[in-house]
Amino acid sequence: MKNYLTISEAKKCLMSREFSAYELMQHYLNRIKNYSKLNAYVTLDEEKALASAKHADERIAKGESLPLLGVPLAVKDLFCTKGIRTTACSKILSEFVPEYESTVTQNLLNNGAVFIGKTNMDEFAMGSSNITSCFGPCFLPYRKKSKPDIELVPGGSSGGSATAVASDLCVAAIGSDTGGSIRQPAAFSGLVGIKPTYGLCSRWGMVAFASSLDQAGPLTKTVEDAAIMLKAMAGYDQKDSTSEKVAIPDYTAFLGQSVKGMKIGIAREYLEGLNEENLALLEKAKSWLIDAGCEIVDISLKTTSYALPAYHIIAPAEASSNLARYDGVRYTKRAKNFSNIDELYVNSRSEGFGEEVKRRILTGTYVLSAGYYDAYYTRALKIQKMIKDDFRNNAFSKVDLILCPTTPNTAFGIEESANMSPVDMYLNDVYTVNANIAGLPAISVPAGLSKDGLPMGVQLIGNRFAEAEIFKVSHVIEKSANFAELRKEIITI
Ligand code: GLN
Repeated sequence: MKNYLTISEAKKCLMSREFSAYELMQHYLNRIKNYSKLNAYVTLDEEKALASAKHADERIAKGESLPLLGVPLAVKDLFCTKGIRTTACSKILSEFVPEYESTVTQNLLNNGAVFIGKTNMDEFAMGSSNITSCFGPCFLPYRKKSKPDIELVPGGSSGGSATAVASDLCVAAIGSDTGGSIRQPAAFSGLVGIKPTYGLCSRWGMVAFASSLDQAGPLTKTVEDAAIMLKAMAGYDQKDSTSEKVAIPDYTAFLGQSVKGMKIGIAREYLEGLNEENLALLEKAKSWLIDAGCEIVDISLKTTSYALPAYHIIAPAEASSNLARYDGVRYTKRAKNFSNIDELYVNSRSEGFGEEVKRRILTGTYVLSAGYYDAYYTRALKIQKMIKDDFRNNAFSKVDLILCPTTPNTAFGIEESANMSPVDMYLNDVYTVNANIAGLPAISVPAGLSKDGLPMGVQLIGNRFAEAEIFKVSHVIEKSANFAELRKEIITI
């Protein structure tokens, strides 16, 4: 069996009976055991996984054909899966077994996918390193050339999904992105990760972090796989009031189409303070796009630096409200010691939430409190409007897409991350939060390696529902970067 199978390769092999879905599932379950130290998965139900693969084989034998029939995928433990424990990697949800399936996972199942298991993540998707998980950190399967003994983070919060794909413990995975949680781990892990337009994928059945920003999306080995998977996940859902009624095209049809004449904007604000390696990579990406016939346009987005502060008001505000439901009565693990209802709430929440989640709840409660609401929350919403207007008036009136870095740096050490201040950690998202604040689609595509041999990604941000353009152009970058070759140079564990 070929290693590092993509969705399209897996499908071909399954359809031509080169191997069965059952064999493929077994293969991944074995690999997961061999690589258990990576801590990519937090819940596996082998019997269920093998049974669903067997069922897929029966359907294939009957001549059925679906886009993901028999393809083993991994699911971030933020998506409710019927009858399978869903924890958001928080102690407070450690006993929660949903009675329903999230819309996104249901859509994947309807397209024939089979699930391997649930992946590790930062608690409630709050983090950029996967170190806040109650199941312990997840590890990047790569090492730096200069310091091969140092363990690195896969990024976060969808760190488990990224590691599962990068270390070939599944064909592809899904993650969620509130401020960068798909794109940052994708960049660290040499993967493709897209956060769709807000409203393209239903949020129903996803454990909510910041409802106005959360979006589901794929983490895949190739742009083509991302296009296949997004089509399968997306679609209008009446159970999500912010779901949008838009046609979902066959995104793969756009791959390989000419990008001649497309205008790609580079905002000078994204270049300020960028390190040399990132600047050089951006220059390379620019030249690939010029060679393919794109026109590069200098633009200015003056509100860029306001996005991160606004995010750290809006996201915790919504989180403090969303997480109020975890009270030790419903869903959750109840504290053993309490003598009245107030103590039950306080003790269950104090024991159940980790430090970072508590920090967000406190920040959120503070910015929503009577005396501070206008000074912080209302102001952040005004800034959000300015950022949206800025993108509309100063970017998408002039260009089709924006090219920028995904992350300020490559994967960092686990130990280093444990010693980072919260603000230093938040700075990881400086290039990714803008798209969430404005509700825009954005992708990270692997484009090169750092001097130290770690993957680096570049980001393309599009106008609302410009996913097809994003795929078209990112496919050009993927081909020009020839990352499949570069990957061979990475030190893996
Ligand atoms: N790293 C960001 C945070 O901690 C984004 C998380 C996410 O996208 N879920 O808030």
